[in-house]
Amino acid sequence: MEPVDGNAIGGLLIDVFGTEMTAASATCAACGTSRPVAELVVYQRAPGTVVRCRTCGSVLMVLVRRTHAVGVDLSGLAHLSQPGSALSERASS
Ligand SMILES: [Zn+2]
Repeated sequence: MEPVDGNAIGGLLIDVFGTEMTAASATCAACGTSRPVAELVVYQRAPGTVVRCRTCGSVLMVLVRRTHAVGVDLSGLAHLSQPGSALSERASS
């Protein structure tokens, strides 16, 4: 299966986080690389979606869509920050 990029799960992430997340900065817990969610490597396999680090290949996020909810495992992420939100105000100091 061909991987796609994070833009492919923009709609799914809106369902999960309630906001547009493709521009959010995701930091890999394994290698420490930060890059926009839109640039991550996404494998879409029913019923789950696996999001991997483009640098080291570690699994950053697993999202499983169920009938009325989406199950999310973010354990591979060290940090996830949304530009302009209160969550990301430790950016540059
Ligand atoms: Zn990594």
